[in-house]
Amino acid sequence: MFVLNARGDLAPFPNTFAPVPPLRAALLCRCPRCGEGRLFTGLLTVRQSCSVCGLDLSAEDAGDGPAVFVILFLGLIVVGLAALVEIRLSPPIWVHLVLWTPLILGGAILLLRPLKAGLIALQYRHRELGSAG
Ligand SMILES: [Zn+2]
Repeated sequence: MFVLNARGDLAPFPNTFAPVPPLRAALLCRCPRCGEGRLFTGLLTVRQSCSVCGLDLSAEDAGDGPAVFVILFLGLIVVGLAALVEIRLSPPIWVHLVLWTPLILGGAILLLRPLKAGLIALQYRHRELGSAG
């Protein structure tokens, strides 16, 4: 397998990759090995393999970890804000529904992808470090 190098020449595909920081892989939702290939095919479906480096991603599974972190982070923020609004303004209950429902749904969707990518990147990194030693 060959790739184009910086000069535009064909070069052998590298067998080793520079370590990809898990935070970068998480925020960009990229492959944990090369940092270039997209990790997801849909909203949260992990690809079978990386389109750039060919890493087999079919066994990657973050389990319920991303959902737990979303519940903790988003719950803390929304409950804190809802309590603050209730204490300061005491609005009718429909105001809470209008304010917090979109924040919860949008926040969960926005946070799930990078958290799942981050957990997969951390699992990959620790698996690689464990097999190197
Ligand atoms: Zn890759």
